[in-house]
Amino acid sequence: MNAAPTVDAESLRIGGLTRLTTIDYPGELAAVIFCQGCPWRCRYCHNRDLLDPDANTVIDWREVIQFLTQRRGLLDAVVFSGGEPTAQQALSSAMSEARGLGFKIGLHTSGAYPERLRRLLPLLDWVGLDIKALPEDYDRITGVEGSGKPAWESLSRLLESGIALEVRTTVMPDWTPPEVAAIAHALADVGVKNYALQGCDTQHALDRNLPNLRFPLRELAGDIESGRFARFTLREA
Ligand code: SF4
Repeated sequence: MNAAPTVDAESLRIGGLTRLTTIDYPGELAAVIFCQGCPWRCRYCHNRDLLDPDANTVIDWREVIQFLTQRRGLLDAVVFSGGEPTAQQALSSAMSEARGLGFKIGLHTSGAYPERLRRLLPLLDWVGLDIKALPEDYDRITGVEGSGKPAWESLSRLLESGIALEVRTTVMPDWTPPEVAAIAHALADVGVKNYALQGCDTQHALDRNLPNLRFPLRELAGDIESGRFARFTLREA
């Protein structure tokens, strides 16, 4: 498997940096780099400023590396988030540099680019993968035709790799509990062990007409055979 960097890390377009977080990489103190650009337009997306790949960036890679160098021994991990980090060819170079400083590498991804994700696997220690819906229902969320196929393909590749993985689904407000349960059970069937359901933050959603969730998230627990996962988490928005 070859993860050789092909594009310099300097060209990574960065829309934001969180210098310390305890919630974005399980059990580790981490910094989060928000990569600019995403090919999808999910109705519930609350990162609208990160969607345009050509938008102004807030910090450049050299400043990030300077910051990370100063944080060696104080932070455990660097998480690449977005936007969609794998949309940028410079990601592997950036991950290699951060890894070279001794940090664990985490990735938050929608799985939009399974082949790029496959090439990144040797650089990754942990992945948070959004699985938004069953494959046939993706387009209604992302606005992009055929978006379910690459996402589920990415899931297969991550499961095959054995890398530490959390799969997350954001609950669309118009779904019923049995619809949510169908997604959860499909994920358990393909071997997902660590699964989280997240509430939808409709106040900051890209689609301003998104209604509020029709039921409290905790009510879903009764419809889902949570015992089929080694770890099952409900996160309110
Ligand atoms: S994939 Fe993520 S960043 Fe991209 S539009 Fe959807 S929610 Fe937003």
